Amino acid sequence: MKVVAIVQARMGSTRLPNKVMKLIDGKPMIEYLLGRLSLANEVDQIVVATSTDERNTPLVHFVSKLGFACEQGSENDVLSRFVQAAKAHSADIIVRITADCPLIDPSLVDEAILKFKTGDFDYICNNYPPTFPDGLDIEICTLGALEKAHLETTNSFDREHVTPYLRQPGQFRTLTLRHSKDLSANRWTVDELDDFVLVESIFEYFSFRYDFGWEDILNLQLLKPEMFDINRHIGRNEGALLGSGQKLWKRAKQIIPGGSMLLSKRPEMFLPEQWPSYFSKAKGCKVWDLDGNEFIDMSIMGIGTNILGYGHPEVDAAVSKTILNGNMSTFNCPEEVFLAERLIEIHPWAHMVRLARSGGEANSIAVRIARAASGKEKVAICGYHGWHDWYLSANLGDDKNLEGHLLPGLNPNGVPRNLKGTVFPFSYNNFSELESLVNLHEIGVISMEVSRNYEPENDFLKNVRKLASDRGIVLIFDECTSGFRETFGGLHKKYDVEPDMAMFGKALGNGYGITAIIGKREVMNAAQTTFISSTFWTERIGPTAALATLKVMEKTKSWETITETGLFIRNGWKALAKKYDLTINNWGIPALAGYTFVSENALAYKTLVTQEMLSGGFLAGNSVYVCTDHSNEIIEEYFTQLDPIFSLIKECEEGRDVFSLLKGPVCHSGFSRLN
Ligand code: PMP
Repeated sequence: MKVVAIVQARMGSTRLPNKVMKLIDGKPMIEYLLGRLSLANEVDQIVVATSTDERNTPLVHFVSKLGFACEQGSENDVLSRFVQAAKAHSADIIVRITADCPLIDPSLVDEAILKFKTGDFDYICNNYPPTFPDGLDIEICTLGALEKAHLETTNSFDREHVTPYLRQPGQFRTLTLRHSKDLSANRWTVDELDDFVLVESIFEYFSFRYDFGWEDILNLQLLKPEMFDINRHIGRNEGALLGSGQKLWKRAKQIIPGGSMLLSKRPEMFLPEQWPSYFSKAKGCKVWDLDGNEFIDMSIMGIGTNILGYGHPEVDAAVSKTILNGNMSTFNCPEEVFLAERLIEIHPWAHMVRLARSGGEANSIAVRIARAASGKEKVAICGYHGWHDWYLSANLGDDKNLEGHLLPGLNPNGVPRNLKGTVFPFSYNNFSELESLVNLHEIGVISMEVSRNYEPENDFLKNVRKLASDRGIVLIFDECTSGFRETFGGLHKKYDVEPDMAMFGKALGNGYGITAIIGKREVMNAAQTTFISSTFWTERIGPTAALATLKVMEKTKSWETITETGLFIRNGWKALAKKYDLTINNWGIPALAGYTFVSENALAYKTLVTQEMLSGGFLAGNSVYVCTDHSNEIIEEYFTQLDPIFSLIKECEEGRDVFSLLKGPVCHSGFSRLN
C-alpha cells in the first residue's frame, strides 16, 4: 500500500498572494512544510499538486529543484487535480496536506496513517470537527474513495475543497481523530499576513529547524502568549466562507489606510464581513462581483456617477475613440473648450469655466477663486464640500482634543489650526443663522448645496441670493451631486436662483472623472490673480466623456426619467411602511431618494435590508441613486423582495431580536451632513 502525501499549493492565494514562496530566514515557506513532512516515517512519497496557472511556475521550479515530484492540474477543480496526482504516482492511500500548514506535525501524520491502516476506513481526518490547532490539518483517504467523489459530485464547493463529499453522511466509512482537549481556537495556519508573521516567529524561536513538535509550540504559547495574539482576530476556515471580495478587502486594509479611497465605498458602510466589495464588471444597473455573482444596483450607483447606467454605449464609444487617438499630449485637447462652451450654453448666467477631476478639488478651486474675487477670507458653508483643508477647518474647535464636530464624523486632524475661524457652517433653511454669521464675521463667500435632503422653504434660496448681492459676497452653489438630476444642468435652474459660481461633478462624465467650475466673468477672472494648475486636469477622456454624456442626457431627457423613477421608489417605501405600520423618514431629491426607519434600531434594520436584499441579488441600503436603466420591472422585483423584509422589521419592532437575524456586525453610519 503506497502512501503518498499530496501537498496542495498555489501562488495565487487571494488573501496572501505568493505565500508559499514567502521567505522565512531566506527559505520559501513551502520548504519548511516539505522539510517537516519528510520526517514522517509512514509517508512513502511527497508530491506537490499545483495548478497549470503560469503564476505557479516559480513554485514548480523550486519544488522540483528540492527533489520533490510536482503535478499541475486544474486551478479550481482541485479534486480532479488530486486524482490526477494520485494516479500519476500510483498512490493507494492519499494524505491531503494544504500548503497553508507549514507547521504540519510529522508524528501526528504518522499516527493518523497508522490509524488509517489498522482500521477499515475510506477517509479519516483530524479537523471535521476540529480539536487540534488550526494548521495541523491531516486528511487521509483511499484512491477508491477519492475517485468515487470525483465521479459523483458536480458541486463546485466539493470540487474546490476536495474532501467535503467524502464527509457526506452514510456514503463512506469515516473517522475524525480528536484530541482530548479542544485546542481548535489556536491558529497556526497561514492565510493572511498576520498568520505569516506568527509562523515566522515560531520558526525563529526554534532556530529555523524542522524537528520541533506541535506540543513544543503549545508550550511556547504558554511561555509567550503575547506572541500568539497577532492573528487571533482571524476566524477558522474563513477562507472557505469568505467571498473573493472580502478576502481582497482584508488585504486592502493592510496596505491602504481605510482600505478604499472613498469612505462611502467601504464594505463596512453596507454589510461588514459580507459585502462583495469589488466588481469585475458593471453594465447598465448591474454589477458583477469577483466570484461572478450578478447584482442589480439599487444603492449608490458608483456614488451617483452614472445617471445613464454603467458603461453607456455612446459615452464609452466616444471615450474609446479618444483612447485610440491619444489621451494626452503636449498640446491641449480641444474637447475642454467645447465642454466649457456647452456648460455656458446650458447656464447662460455663467461666462467662464475651469475643469478639474474630483468634486473636492472643484470646491477648493471655487473657494480659492471666490476668496480672491471678494478679497475676504471667511466662508459660510452649508452641505458637504469635500475633504480639503479649507472645508475641514470648520471642525477645528477651541479645545485641541475635543474638536468642534459641527460636521460629526469628519476629523480635522492634520488641518493647520491657523485655519480656525475661517469657515462657518449654517443649517439649510435657517436664513437668520446665515444672516447673523454675515453680520458677525467678514464673510466673503457663501458656498452651499442648492438642496440635499429637503426643499427650500420661505424663499430661502432667494433670500440667500439677495443677502450675498447686498453684502458683496460671492455665492457658490455646489452642484457636484445635485446637477443633472432634476434639470438639464444645475438644480438651481428649478428654483430660478442664479449663483455667481457653480460646480458640477459626479454624473457629468457618466463614470469618467471630470468636474467643472462655472462662474460669472468678474468672479472667474480672479483665477488669474492666483495659481490654480494641475497636469491631469488636461487629459482628454474627462471632457470627451462629459460631452457625450450631455448629448445623451439632452436627447433622452434623463433628468425627467430618473425623477419620475425616484418618486415611484419613494412612494413604494411609503406604501410598504404604511402596510407594516412602520415609521420612516423620507429624504433626498427624487433621483437621490432615501429613507430612514424611525427606531433606535435604525442602523440594524438598514443592515438587515442590505443582507437580505443581497441574497436576493440586489445591492440595497436605504438610498437609491436612480439611473435610466432602473426599469419598472426591476423596481417591481425590488419591492417584491423588500416586502417580507419590512414585515420582519415590523416583527422586530414588536420584540423580535433584530441582531439574531444579522449574520454579521451592524453597518457603520457615515458622517452627518449639514441639512
Ligand atoms: N460636493 C458635494 C455636494 C458632494 O456631494 C461631493 C461628494 N459626495 C463632493 C463635493 C466631493 O466630491 P468628490 O468625492 O468627487 O471629491
